[in-house]
Formats: sequence, C-alpha cells, structure tokens
Amino acid sequence: MSDDVVEFLRARLNEVAELAGQCDGDDCGQWTADGDTVDFCQMDLSGFHPTIAQHVALHDPARVLRDVEAKRRVLARHVLSPAINDPALHWDNRDDCQYDGEDWPCSDLLDLALSYADHPDHREQWRSHQMRTR
Ligand SMILES: [Zn+2]
Repeated sequence: MSDDVVEFLRARLNEVAELAGQCDGDDCGQWTADGDTVDFCQMDLSGFHPTIAQHVALHDPARVLRDVEAKRRVLARHVLSPAINDPALHWDNRDDCQYDGEDWPCSDLLDLALSYADHPDHREQWRSHQMRTR
C-alpha cells in the first residue's frame, strides 16, 4: 500500500475542520446542553432527548477543531520510511513507519482511518487489515 491513507486522512480532517469552522460563526464554538435544550451560541434549540442534547453539545466546533488538531499531530508523527531495496541493508527491505517501525501503513493510521470507514474513498483493504490485528 502506498501513502494513500495519509492523503485520505488529510482530506477528511480538512473537511471536518472546514465544516466546524463554518459552524463557529460567532467565535463561540462551545455548545452546551441543559435538559432537552442545546445552546448553539447563536441560538437555542429544544426538544432533544437529554442524552442526545448532551451528545450534540459534546461535538461543538471548538472540540471538533481540537480533535482535528490532535489527529493531525498523530498523522505528522507517522511518516513513511520507504524500502531501500539494497540487498546489503536487509533490515530496510520494506516500507515501514518511521515512528513505530510497523509495516506501512501502520496500525495507528489505519485506526484513524476507521473513523471515516463510511466515506466512499475509504478502502476495504484498510478495514480488512484492521480486522486481522484484533
Ligand atoms: Zn506509525
């Protein structure tokens, strides 16, 4: 497998960050829940089941943007170390991750990609790799 999972993750994180940024029009970005009501900063909406109201509030733009930043940091640490294919360097005959030494793409990247398994660009082999590691 190539570097595709990195490109896939960068694209998904950019999409999520862009949408969260668009929902933070008043620079508040922190949603709160009180009973059946969610305060979206710009307005309140009521009628939610209280658990759903809390769930929605937990996914406010500020939190989503922090989550994207954390995932981007993970992504930056896990970098492809391509195989050299020099017979004299038998320890460097496979593509691996510079951070953890696992075969490329490593489990951490595939786990990050799992969040977006419902995206049409997600590849089945990334999921099947994850199934083998359980
Ligand atoms: Zn890695």
